[in-house]
Order: sequence, then C-alpha cells, then structure tokens
Amino acid sequence: MKVKTYMSQEGILPGGFVERVRRIVGGEHFSQQESDLISYSLDYWLYGVFLSQKGDLPALPSAVISPASAAQIQEIIRCAGEYKVPITPFGGGSGVLGGAIPLNGSIILNLQRMNRFLNLDEASLVAELEAGIMGANLELELNRRGYSAGNIPQSLYCSTLGGWISTRAAGQFSTKYGKIEDMVLGMEVVLPDGNLLNIKPVPRRSVGPSLKDLFLGGEGTLGIVTRATISIHPLPRLTIKQSFIFSSIEVAVEVVRQILRVEARPAVVRIFDEAESERYFPRIGRKVVTIFISEGETEYTALDARVIRRISREKGGKSSGEEPVNIWLQKRFDIGLGPVLMQYGGIVDTVEVSALFKDAARLYRDMVAAMKAVEGTLEVSGHYSHFYREGACLYITFAGVPKDPLRYYQDTWDAAMKATLQNNGSISHHHGIGFWRMQYLEQELGSSGVRLLKSIKSALDPEGILNRGKLIDGGR
Ligand SMILES: Cc1cc2nc3c(=O)[nH]c(=O)nc-3n(C[C@H](O)[C@H](O)[C@H](O)COP(=O)(O)OP(=O)(O)OC[C@H]3O[C@@H](n4cnc5c(N)ncnc54)[C@H](O)[C@@H]3O)c2cc1C
Repeated sequence: MKVKTYMSQEGILPGGFVERVRRIVGGEHFSQQESDLISYSLDYWLYGVFLSQKGDLPALPSAVISPASAAQIQEIIRCAGEYKVPITPFGGGSGVLGGAIPLNGSIILNLQRMNRFLNLDEASLVAELEAGIMGANLELELNRRGYSAGNIPQSLYCSTLGGWISTRAAGQFSTKYGKIEDMVLGMEVVLPDGNLLNIKPVPRRSVGPSLKDLFLGGEGTLGIVTRATISIHPLPRLTIKQSFIFSSIEVAVEVVRQILRVEARPAVVRIFDEAESERYFPRIGRKVVTIFISEGETEYTALDARVIRRISREKGGKSSGEEPVNIWLQKRFDIGLGPVLMQYGGIVDTVEVSALFKDAARLYRDMVAAMKAVEGTLEVSGHYSHFYREGACLYITFAGVPKDPLRYYQDTWDAAMKATLQNNGSISHHHGIGFWRMQYLEQELGSSGVRLLKSIKSALDPEGILNRGKLIDGGR
C-alpha cells in the first residue's frame, strides 16, 4: 500500500495561517525545514518504517509546530479551524498503528515542550503533569520523590503521558497497578473549537457518562490533552521474583487464572510460549516459561509470592528461579531486531489482543496457526502480558520474508484479526486503532458503535481538523 505521500508541503499552507501561528508560538517553534518535516513524518507503525527504509515516506507534514502552553494550543486550533488546516498531535511518536502520521498534509503539533512536573499531592497520592512529558522523565521525577506511577510500557523512553492517555496504554506492571485509564483522575483538554475542558481530579464521581473516557483512547481526534492528574504509589519495600516452567500454554494460563481468582496481585505476570522462551532464555530452551514479580508492602508481597508458589507447584510448575525474571528485566526496553530485519526485505510486526479466560488459550492456538499459514511467514510467537481476574492480553510477534510485502502484511493482519474475532476477543488491547487498524473497527464495534463514534466526532469537530484519517474518519 502506498499511503498518500506529500514530498514537499512548503508554501501550501495559507500565508495568513503561517504568519499567525508563527506569532503565537515564536518563529523558532514553527518549522518547515525539510529535516524537521521528515523527522515528524512517521511514528513506529512498522509498515511505515519499512516504507521509509526504501525512501518512501508514508506522509509529510506541512509544518511542525511546538507550542508551550494550552493557551497557545487554543489559539492554534482556532486559527486552524478558520483556515481549514488539519492538525495531528504528536507525543513521542512511538505509536505502532500510524496514529501520529500526518495524513492529508496535516501540520504536526509537537507536544514535547509541554513537559513540566506541576504538582505532587502526597496526602492524596496524586501528581499533576503536563501531557508532553516523556514517560522516563515522569517516572524519574516520581522515583526521586519516593513514588512510582506504576505505568512502565516497553516504550517508556520514547512515549509521553499524553500519548499514553490517547492510546489507552498499558505498562508492564499493569496487573497490580492497572492501565492508564485506571490511573488518570483528571485532565485538561483543548477541544477542537478551541475551548478548554477541565475535568477535575477526584477519586470517582457520578455525574453522567465519564467525559475522561472520550479522551482515554481518543487518539488525538476529539481533543488535545494538555495536562493530567494521575494516581501514584510509594516505591515498593519488597520485591520477589519467581518463575516456573509449565507443561503447556493451557496449564500456564489456568495457573494465572487461579492466582488472580484468589486476589493475589503480582505486578508483572508474563507467559512466554516455547518460541519466545527460547529467544529470551536460551539456557531453558523451548519450554513455556512464566515469570512473576510481586512487589509492595513487605507482608502483602510475601503473601502474594507464597500464593503464586503454592498454586504454580500444585499445577506441576517447575521453579526456574529468579534468573528468567532478571533476564527479562534487563531486556524489557529492547526494541528488537524488527527494523534491522526490514532493511533486508523482511516484514515484522506485533499484534496485541484481549480475551476472556475461557477463550484465551484457544485464541493463542488459532491466531498462531492462522498467521503461520500465510505464505512467506518465517516465525510467529507469543506471550501473555497483562492479566485481569477475567482474562488476559495476548501479544503476538510475526516475521516473514514475502514476495509481495504489502499483500503479506495485509494477509497476516487479516488472519490475526479474524482469529481474534472468532474467539470473542477484542482487536486491540493497548496499541489502539491509529490508521492501520481502522479497517477492522466496524467488525469490533458494530455499525451502531461506529455511527455513535462518528456522531461524537462530528459534534465535537465538524470540520475534521483533529487527526484526520485516524480512528474514526477518512481512511486510506
Ligand atoms: C518499542 C515499543 C514498545 C512499546 N511498548 C508499549 C507498551 O508496553 N504498552 C503500550 O501501551 N504501548 C506500547 N507501545 C506503543 C506506544 O508506545 C504507545 O501507544 C504510546 O502510548 C504512544 O505514546 P506517544 O507519546 O509516543 O504517542 P504518539 O505515537 O506520538 O501518538 C499516539 C496517538 O496519540 C495522539 N496523541 C499524542 N499525544 C497526544 C495528546 N497530548 N493529546 C491528544 N492526542 C495525542 C497522536 O495523535 C496519535 O494518534 C510501544 C511502542 C514501541 C515502539
């Protein structure tokens, strides 16, 4: 597939718009330099990275604008509305579905200057931050003060708080601390008409439908998140690492189901299939390895670890000690060999989905079989990485060396999505929809669901200024 490619947008933006926006942000924060346009032309959608390695950018923005405040964004959005210039919000650009790619000659609104740690309320265990703060800086600032946000995605070093909110991100420690939607208590959002929406931070309220949920997963189509107040946790006093080898994926999933059923809450639980275990833990080889990290207050943590150990052993689990956990901790921010393989004509990507426990193991078997059956596939492997009392997230990685890369990419995704839907799963657990997954949206939400989302979009943003061609509207 060739996404629309705008090789040069210079001069296309209306002169009046350029002049006004320059005045709003200051000349040095408005750029149409080719190097900046190229830098902000794509995110981490791997097919886009594949295209770019061949010198074929998925799209090019008309300009890159870096505001310093919500007030500046309000002025920019009003100006964009007047001149009908589309805007794509850009956090860290680590999204993997093309959500931050500036389709339709959009300008990029780079939020990274809005990166301040604003307030810590230790009594209430909440912190307020600007949305452009990088995950690693957010976590470091909290750690220095004795706290953690508990949201540690693999992309910690290249994603922002605003990006997490906009994609409904999930960190590696989510089984204990929850996902981003469990952490955000309040937020400030610039709406497409330029008005500011303040959702005050309270532990809960019953005031009609939750407005926060419009933006938790809004993917920059309904508003621009400028601040958020999130819950935080004191740093753990005790951490216990354990790992077990089980006879099959089915047994491992059943063990975790039983552990969560009795209210144990490990922070990290990951079940690796044979192929992933062999890659991660070569000393163990092709086995089903499950790692657990329990952490927090000393007494609770010790009890948590005891429950995990007892249930794992009862189900025939063989302890493999702390080593696999330490290996995973060392490697957990590695981006992998995908981009390198693609330089040699390979196609690599990941697909994360969710399902109830009753379907979770069958979903793994069906997805892997369907994706392996696509001609050109070299390897399909998987792990489960986020757990609930009710079910889990399944994360599949595939690699192939196909004759026709786009055909292969499309067919493999189709196979993955079909297997997911047939097993009652959701097409995305935490990466979102962006641009590429839009083609499966109706199968997930049904036509009424899509119509409802579209009505919300057209009520808030009738001109389609915000992130055109993503999540709901426009398309390929
Ligand atoms: C190596 C790697 C590992 C990853 N690991 C994880 C993981 O463990 N867990 C996980 O959940 N995801 C993971 N991801 C995916 C990605 O990091 C997340 O989707 C992340 O939340 C995106 O944040 P970002 O700041 O990079 O957003 P971007 O990619 O810049 O943007 C994502 C979307 O949000 C919109 N957006 C960004 N900021 C704002 C804002 N302030 N207001 C409104 N809209 C906005 C954009 O327009 C776009 O639609 C990973 C990605 C990579 C490349």
